[in-house]
Amino acid sequence: MTETHDQATPVKCTHCDKTMSTPVVCDYCHTIGPDAAVVDHFTLLGLPRRFDLDPAEIHRKFLALSRHAHPDFHADDTPEVQQLHLQVSAALNEAYRALSDPAARASYLLTLFGGKSSAEDKSVPDGFLGAMMMMQEELTDALAAEDRSEIARIADVLKTQHDGLIHRIGILFEQYQESVSCKAAVDDLLGELRQQLNAVSYAKKLLAQATDAEHAHE
Ligand SMILES: [Zn+2]
Repeated sequence: MTETHDQATPVKCTHCDKTMSTPVVCDYCHTIGPDAAVVDHFTLLGLPRRFDLDPAEIHRKFLALSRHAHPDFHADDTPEVQQLHLQVSAALNEAYRALSDPAARASYLLTLFGGKSSAEDKSVPDGFLGAMMMMQEELTDALAAEDRSEIARIADVLKTQHDGLIHRIGILFEQYQESVSCKAAVDDLLGELRQQLNAVSYAKKLLAQATDAEHAHE
């Protein structure tokens, strides 16, 4: 066995004693696990702690677990268990929201790996702010002039920039997985990841201004 995922070891259902694929809910009897509402988003959805996850797989896991946690399966349960079910449903929704968006997934993963939050480290890559301020000026002018083709062009540039940042984040997470044993390398990578993520937030905000203006004319 050379599996190095941070997967929790399989637990057995407290009700039917079958092995559970996630600590959330039993695949066989729909019993909700005692730790379901307190595990991290990845463990909750039965996914490895990685950035490069297949969006379809995230969606599939979310749907399967939501179905198992459906109130119909728990109508005869005690109020305590029904309360737990509600907590699990809320946790599943939150986990899906956080993991299905690449930037949100990266940000969450970064905090799990011990990196700084966006509140603790607001730095961005060198030269990025200058470039963004120029884009902001161009966009403000285009919005004032209601120049729709110019707004669309700026939106395209921002979308490309955003996708490039997300791609870079994917590479950094790959490097992180390969160098977890080297503390200095890990600190550098987590720092750069935070910068790239801060840059994504800037690009997203500007992109929202541009696309809101585009849609306002539809
Ligand atoms: Zn069971």
